Amino acid sequence: MASVTLEHLTKTYPNGFVSVDDVSLSIEDGEFVVFHGPSGCGKSTILRMIGGLEDITSGRIYLGRDLLNDILPRDRHLAMAFQNYTLYKHFNVYDNIALGLRLRNLPRTVIDSRVKEAAKFFGITDVLDQKIRLLSASDRQRVALARAVVFRPKVLLVDEDFARQDPELRVEMLGDILEINEELGITVLYVTNKQEEAVGLKKKTVFMKDGKITDIRSS
Ligand code: ADP
Repeated sequence: MASVTLEHLTKTYPNGFVSVDDVSLSIEDGEFVVFHGPSGCGKSTILRMIGGLEDITSGRIYLGRDLLNDILPRDRHLAMAFQNYTLYKHFNVYDNIALGLRLRNLPRTVIDSRVKEAAKFFGITDVLDQKIRLLSASDRQRVALARAVVFRPKVLLVDEDFARQDPELRVEMLGDILEINEELGITVLYVTNKQEEAVGLKKKTVFMKDGKITDIRSS
């Protein structure tokens, strides 16, 4: 099960600043949940703690029944799409998507079919042989998403910075992550500080301020 449960999740930085303050939340398997609030309210910190990029000060995070707190990021069955999600510009698209699977020593035939399946899903089959540096920004974004979902994660974490550069890319990215959620059944947690985006998505929205949840609305 890919439900995500946060229990009294708290992050206090060494300087004493409380970035996430006693947050409890249940997210169901297959849900698309938007985290919205002003810059600095702790949205990304929650995502980073779920992803294992940030230590948890106190509280618990569960994926299904599994306590994630002490599980290494690579073993969490989560995928992350963040702004600094770098692609290797001198590698071709195929190798970029395959890289993580190769590091896990999966058989070559399995890697090949997964890479091709992901490429088909994102409509980038015809650029599999191209070097990243020669691709359009739109195709690069798709490669980054393909690289995230090729692991068949249970949950996809998307930070708003992922497509910060360009409003058109952002719209495309939102379409892509909605498809990932609806067609692949992957639970999606999406962070945004843009109100029109949070409202426009018409998904369950968790409103935050000063590290706390202030409201949860389903549309
Ligand atoms: P959001 O994603 O909502 O914009 P973040 O989760 O990135 O906010 O950050 C929450 C708050 O934590 C911000 O006010 C930020 O300045 C603070 N913060 C982040 N990293 C540190 C750190 N290492 N030490 C102290 N405060 C930090």
